[in-house]
Amino acid sequence: MSNFNVLILGSASATPTLHRNPTSQLVTINQQLYLIDCGEGTQLQLRKHNVNFNRIHHIFISHLHGDHYLGLIGLLQTMHLLGRENELTVFGPKNLKEIIEVHFKYSKSYPSYSLNFVELSTESPSIIYETDKLTVETIILTHRLPCTGFLFKEKAKPRRINPQAIAQYNIPIHALNKLKLGLDFIRSEHDIIKNKLLTDDSLPSYSYAYCSDTAYNEAILSQIDRVSLLYHEATFMEIDKDRAIKTKHSTAKEAATIALKSKANYLIIGHFSNRYKHLDELLNEAKTVFKKTELASEGICFEVAKM
Ligand SMILES: [Zn+2]
Ligand SMILES: [Zn+2]
Repeated sequence: MSNFNVLILGSASATPTLHRNPTSQLVTINQQLYLIDCGEGTQLQLRKHNVNFNRIHHIFISHLHGDHYLGLIGLLQTMHLLGRENELTVFGPKNLKEIIEVHFKYSKSYPSYSLNFVELSTESPSIIYETDKLTVETIILTHRLPCTGFLFKEKAKPRRINPQAIAQYNIPIHALNKLKLGLDFIRSEHDIIKNKLLTDDSLPSYSYAYCSDTAYNEAILSQIDRVSLLYHEATFMEIDKDRAIKTKHSTAKEAATIALKSKANYLIIGHFSNRYKHLDELLNEAKTVFKKTELASEGICFEVAKM
């Protein structure tokens, strides 16, 4: 497994079927697990893929249509029954906290662990989570309910120390952190060693944009400009465009157009309407606009660096 990957746990819209689960994805970055959306059956999908629930500390919910969060109460309850002690933070829309708390109140089963809610603004994009290596921003989507996508962005990585050069120029260990930032090594006013002689270029930084559910919306293009991997919903095909407009969803072709215009490196489409029995038709429609497209499918793990 690479340092940055996206495991599809559910790819269907609306209702679960025998072969498809409602939306959920597990993003892994530097061994940290982030769950995005939690449709019904998500905890079974996590079990199926041997994911340790205790390793999930952050859950991001896009909006309050049931196909994106009806699995959340079950997952939170299972975490409680398993005796979880680790803190858990749920990022989600206004009123999600109330929904969850009503369940706890009437089931008289408050969780054993500390559960935090962060209410997301749907006014403008903002950074909602940050570490020394990563930021997560909201993406404002256009849907029948307030809805946010999520943009996971690795920060610029340090330059890589060249051990042979360090030995050759006799560089002290305490100077290495400055070298990683790109600074030259200054032994004295007349003895300056250029950074490029001592380090190699940083590894690339990757990004992942999750856009579900949404009508076609070019307002997001600048925010997701040159994203490494774009997930965009493609509930419908162009033949059902009327329905897409009415329900504020996108067609496969529209998802591909967003990928093309944002200069994404790769596109995953998902959230398919159950009316389509042959998903290759959606894939082919998207590929007429943007070749590097794949279908979201339960159990597929996309390794962002290899795409
Ligand atoms: Zn949905
Ligand atoms: Zn929806």
